[in-house]
Amino acid sequence: MLSHSGRFFLPGDPGAENLQLSHESNEAMMRETISRLRRSFEEDCAAITGSENWKSVRDKYLAREGGLITGALKKLRELPKEERPAFGQAMNTLREFVEERLETRLQEVRAGERDRPAVDVTRPGFPLEFGSAHPIKSLQAEIEEIFVGMGFRVFDLPEIESDYYNFEALNMPPEHPARDAQDTFYFNAVQLLRTHCSSVQVHAMEALEPPIRAISTGKVFRRDPFDATHSPMFYQVDVIAVEEGLHMGHLKGMLDVFLKRVFHPGIKMRLRPGFFPFVEPGAEVDISCIFCSGRGCAKCKQSGWIEILGAGMVHPRVLEMSGIRDPRITGFAWGMGIDRVAILKYGVDDIRLFFDNDLRFLNQF
Ligand SMILES: [Zn+2]
Repeated sequence: MLSHSGRFFLPGDPGAENLQLSHESNEAMMRETISRLRRSFEEDCAAITGSENWKSVRDKYLAREGGLITGALKKLRELPKEERPAFGQAMNTLREFVEERLETRLQEVRAGERDRPAVDVTRPGFPLEFGSAHPIKSLQAEIEEIFVGMGFRVFDLPEIESDYYNFEALNMPPEHPARDAQDTFYFNAVQLLRTHCSSVQVHAMEALEPPIRAISTGKVFRRDPFDATHSPMFYQVDVIAVEEGLHMGHLKGMLDVFLKRVFHPGIKMRLRPGFFPFVEPGAEVDISCIFCSGRGCAKCKQSGWIEILGAGMVHPRVLEMSGIRDPRITGFAWGMGIDRVAILKYGVDDIRLFFDNDLRFLNQF
């Protein structure tokens, strides 16, 4: 900025408007002013940390209105005519210097912003939302763990099974009426989506020598409707034990231990005769109603009992087909729906909730 007298000063300088100065002192003042402007710009330029900051430094010196350098150039005409060229040239050199330095600084600032990690590591973290195991999956793991503890080997079997392992080797030859109840999805004449995990019986007897203790859990498929109590895909656990001298007493003892572990120690159990083609004799297994402790309620249709699984002694024909021909060797097997256990254990009244992936439901487990 120029004073009325033509003296150059920067904002904040003590005013010297009234001083009349000689040509020489005017020129010295001019040089001093320019070098002060330059020093002040260099300090500001070095302190630039980002593009916002860069803009304010640019405006401070070069803005059309109020920029220190632009302002000084506008005041040229107030200088004595003979002093204008020298001052104008010096100011233009300074302006070019400032523009060049600002351009270089801008490139540096932009490169710095590009290289800076996208994550501000100094920012406080967002609270993490933890997921939970799916209730069916955690129940599946819990069941496997109980049996591993009893010396059982876990068989991980394919969901696409052959007709032989799913039906035929389990005493359900083609045209057997029991196949109807387990109508399923076929890929071709040989391969299908397994309807139960009971094929573990045959796979285990083929792979191991007695004594055999095996369990398999996983998804099974049937042509069932999808409603509150049915699903075309659900989870099962199947267990087999084969050894000399095994009988129904062993089966009952083991089921008692298992069901008390899964539900609660006060649970009672009963066996009723039942038919499954791959066991003989077969049994339906009930537990005392977990909702009314056996007194009778709507859930157990006032009977005090709830059907929970199917069991029995391995059919001699199944043993024979799996290569076990010694009549002293017997086995027991049973199978159960894991979803069914989950429904009872957690008091869920609609099986579809397990497959809806609704976090409001899943977060409760
Ligand atoms: Zn009940």
